[in-house]
Amino acid sequence: MVDGDKIILPHSQDILKIENHLTKLYISENQYVATVTNEILVDKHLDNLEFISIRHALNHFDHDLIQQIVYYQQLHDYYINHTYCGRCGEPTTRREINKFVYCNKCNTENYPHISPCIIVRIHKDDKILMARGVNFPPKSWGLIAGFIEIGESLEEGVVREVKEEINIEIDNLHYWGSQPWPYPNNSLMIGFTATYRAGGVTPDKMEIAEAGFYSAKDIPGRPTTTYSIASKMIQEFYQSQF
Ligand SMILES: [Zn+2]
Repeated sequence: MVDGDKIILPHSQDILKIENHLTKLYISENQYVATVTNEILVDKHLDNLEFISIRHALNHFDHDLIQQIVYYQQLHDYYINHTYCGRCGEPTTRREINKFVYCNKCNTENYPHISPCIIVRIHKDDKILMARGVNFPPKSWGLIAGFIEIGESLEEGVVREVKEEINIEIDNLHYWGSQPWPYPNNSLMIGFTATYRAGGVTPDKMEIAEAGFYSAKDIPGRPTTTYSIASKMIQEFYQSQF
């Protein structure tokens, strides 16, 4: 909801007119997260209500609120995507205590899915490898990242992604930190640092449009939000150089 130049969450009375289009998931007695029907998204008569992406919301709400919104939004998505048992087709039952669904007929339990995704800051002398994805907005640069495949360790995933996307080899992998990143996928970003070992940087052009090693004073661009782990990893490098 727009309030002057700020964006705030609406109160119940602000959304009375779209009440019939909401599917609610209660956080507490007077707080809930809801999804809306598609017709609402194209309705032009919402007064000062406005739909923004959760990613966009990162720039408007504090960390604790974002975490709460994301948690319930993801849980909501998980529930509505698992209304029926994937194995036998029976309607599932929610187990509220541990937040999962199960099937009374075939006893299959289904837990919320989280997708591990590695991200790596590769060092070469006083430079780091920065890359621009093919779908990045202009002037937006980040680090090499990618989803872990079935049966792969995090370290193997880092080495494979780097080889696939820019065709170089790396050494000295070290864990850096992690961050949930459900915008919109239910990813868990797991950050590593590494050092360059061999090969000439060659972007695959499928996922990476441009890539190269840059010193702190020549960083070509930044990620679109300072909230992201990519942004924090780049900023840490930047500050270490001055
Ligand atoms: Zn079943």
